[in-house]
Amino acid sequence: MIWDLCTTQEIAAADRSRVVILPLAATEQHGPHLPLATDRLIAEGICRGLETKLGDKILILPCPPVGYSMHHRGFAGTLSLTHAQLMESAATLLGCVQEDGFGNILVLNAHGGNIALAGVLMERLGERCPDARLAFTSWWQVAAEALGEITETGPGGVGHACEFETSLLLHLHPELVRREKIAAGTNVSTHPWAEGDMLRAAPVKLQRSMAQMTRNGVFGDPGAASAKKGRAILDAVIAALEPVIVDLHNSEK
Ligand SMILES: [Zn+2]
Repeated sequence: MIWDLCTTQEIAAADRSRVVILPLAATEQHGPHLPLATDRLIAEGICRGLETKLGDKILILPCPPVGYSMHHRGFAGTLSLTHAQLMESAATLLGCVQEDGFGNILVLNAHGGNIALAGVLMERLGERCPDARLAFTSWWQVAAEALGEITETGPGGVGHACEFETSLLLHLHPELVRREKIAAGTNVSTHPWAEGDMLRAAPVKLQRSMAQMTRNGVFGDPGAASAKKGRAILDAVIAALEPVIVDLHNSEK
């Protein structure tokens, strides 16, 4: 079920074991070839797939369009909330869900800049509702093993507006991809201990803005992207989320 397409009576009558999914995304630069809405479009694509497979077990909240993206502000068009604003809005929104009696909540993230904040959000909601079952993941994290079999670009190939994100957009919204502008990311390397990507976290986080990490706003290699790969990525993410949602749904209250 889609939260905002239900009537108030339908939400009131919904089974409280349903897992309420809050997608998190961003409106930010995705290089010269992908739209600013890329993360939200990916999050919504994953949610549509989940609705098809698990519609009787979930309730999908509207995806807030703006996340924490201050580190992308070196590129025009990027919108961002502050940490405090994003925390307050997500905590308040999920507070409404909890007040309505739903205790199974999955925060499903599609933007790296939201990760640190979502961890604190989980702790904050857990303090307020110790009996709630709160879960958080990012799509590339929950499906990391399967995605490792799909990627063809090697270390540093999947990061931002990259092989993965471009493939997903070619599958979900091909009309929005400026194919003639696809170019490899101009990754700026630093120290071996600070180098990582979506599938291989760096041993040490070296704080840098995106403008310091990449000159063209792309980190990785979108040249290896295809719509077929995007379909495989989407399928892998949905397959990895399915047992998580089923377990949350079946948890004892
Ligand atoms: Zn993105």
